[in-house]
Amino acid sequence: MAHTAAPERTQQGNGVTTPDTAEDVWSGPRLRVENLTVSFDDGEGGAHIPLRDVSFDIKPRSCVGIIGEAGAGKTLTARSLQPHHLPADARMDGRILLDGEDIRMRPPGSAGIQVLTRNPMDALNPVRTIGQQLTDALRHRHDISDRFARQLALEAMEQVGIPAPRRGLSRYPHHFAGTMRYRVMAAALTINPPRVLVIDEPLGLDHGAQAELTDLLCDIAHRVGSAALLLSRNPALVAGHCQRLVSLHAGEVVENARADDLLQRPAHPYTSALLGDREVDGLVTAPTEGCLFRGRCAHAMAGCERTQPMVVDQRGRPARCWRHGELNLSAVGG
Ligand code: SF4
Repeated sequence: MAHTAAPERTQQGNGVTTPDTAEDVWSGPRLRVENLTVSFDDGEGGAHIPLRDVSFDIKPRSCVGIIGEAGAGKTLTARSLQPHHLPADARMDGRILLDGEDIRMRPPGSAGIQVLTRNPMDALNPVRTIGQQLTDALRHRHDISDRFARQLALEAMEQVGIPAPRRGLSRYPHHFAGTMRYRVMAAALTINPPRVLVIDEPLGLDHGAQAELTDLLCDIAHRVGSAALLLSRNPALVAGHCQRLVSLHAGEVVENARADDLLQRPAHPYTSALLGDREVDGLVTAPTEGCLFRGRCAHAMAGCERTQPMVVDQRGRPARCWRHGELNLSAVGG
């Protein structure tokens, strides 16, 4: 393993390399997801397709949110960004480009995309102390002494608000509970920043704790120069951090717009329901033809069952709804 030179202290803090330094000469999107489709053999000669034709970009240092109900495909999208984490029988089509390079061309673990799963214990080694894990991460990248690595780890713990950080370094992951485990993950991010940070909605926390953590993680992502992708059922949780929002229904993007546009003028009835925190009853239509939302849509009309909708309105904004531009949808569920 080639080490980088020992980090020097800078005004920003620990002086560890950020994703925007060194080899970054790419001027396009930090992450481009292009027609991503994930399918499984259904055992009857056909295919189950939980994610189809998903596309979006994230610019460097910016943030995109994917909003959608449970089962819409948010977590599968996140797992696809680390294809070796997909089930062995999954077939993945489309392209995922990190700074212009197809991530499947890179060895596992080197893609520069970090996914914070809904359970932070997934990412922590239960038999190594937090201090060991943080200093391992530092020494993996930098030729520095144990002592300096431990000092940087201590500073990282302080920066993310972990009480008694020196004692915390000697503790194991199971000694931390709830939000503190996320703060440990946040400390790791400050010393080993990914190019893209994916934050899946934390499990088992109330709205206040979720919001506090999301604020902390987005703040760190911005500070260390990572692009961020936020996944949530709750648009209110992510909207304030995101430049763009992608609305995902039944594995399809139904709209992808600037965050303020989408929040003020949702273009699809499903997005409107999400914004209004309104449960949508009914089954998702089997993916054959027409609008997959039609069995649940209060605005459905004859013709919605014809081919897959994609309408661009007069302002150039696309949405998967035949009535896009005609419906007067609101952000409180219309
Ligand atoms: S295409 Fe029809 S069924 Fe689908 S969201 Fe639009 S109005 Fe509703």
